[in-house]
Amino acid sequence: MPFASLGLDADIVRAVTEHGYTEPTTIQRAAIPAVLAGRDVLAGAQTGTGKTAGFVLPILQRLGATLRGTDPRAKRRVRVLVLTPTRELAAQVEESVRTYGKYTPVKSTVIFGGVGMQPQVDRLAQSLDIIVATPGRLLDHVGQRTLDLSTIETLVLDEADRLLDMGVIHDVKRILRLLPAKRQNLLISATFADEIKSLADSLLHDPAEIEVARRNAPAEIVDQRIFLVRKEAKRHLLARLIKQGNWFQVLVFPRTKHGAHRLAEQLSKGGIAALAIPG
Ligand code: AMP
Repeated sequence: MPFASLGLDADIVRAVTEHGYTEPTTIQRAAIPAVLAGRDVLAGAQTGTGKTAGFVLPILQRLGATLRGTDPRAKRRVRVLVLTPTRELAAQVEESVRTYGKYTPVKSTVIFGGVGMQPQVDRLAQSLDIIVATPGRLLDHVGQRTLDLSTIETLVLDEADRLLDMGVIHDVKRILRLLPAKRQNLLISATFADEIKSLADSLLHDPAEIEVARRNAPAEIVDQRIFLVRKEAKRHLLARLIKQGNWFQVLVFPRTKHGAHRLAEQLSKGGIAALAIPG
């Protein structure tokens, strides 16, 4: 099933095709039409399922459709807010927005703590359609009046289970109170503990419920093998596998820091360049 059959426009299909995607993943097939229709969504999906594109692509399309024909110089208000629990995830999601939205007029920025406020303040003063943010720094901007959340039309809680962690949940609740009551809500979570269920109940209206089968298995292209060997034989086997298989770029996860150092040393002595990176 091609992306276009999900109702996505050519400018978005072009970007994902150029990015190397040939067909939508399971969650994308379910989420894209629901988000395009303006529905609330409750998605059970982990990283690796393609969840990000599942909400980013239809959001880009909805924004793009309303921007077409408008004056590109006119100042625009933020309409989509994506909350993530970590800086890394925020940066990744916003990168996806840029990648998939490169042929659309949609503008985005990322807001997270631990870096200077001023560049973010400058960015927030410009036209923006999408903000991807971690909750604490977002509230700092609201407090400084460098950001107004009253124009948000779509809220995404990405990795919502982690947004409910202690220390973040209060910020999330404060943000929810600052948003217009009438809006589209998308909640994505890998797990569904009671707190997530009650958050979903209070947040979502008649949501499309999407459950991607829990895949504790790695991607299909990953081949797994187990070798049962005596402890003393492990490093010899490893060295032989690496040499015989002509493997480059191998990650090895030993149990201890000491074990990591010892193994790296042994491999190096055996002619395999190795580095230990302990915590
Ligand atoms: P996510 O679950 O959003 O973290 O995405 C996991 C990975 O799958 C990312 O590296 C994406 O670039 C990739 N991905 C997302 N959608 C597709 C697709 N339709 N086809 C191939 N790869 C994809």
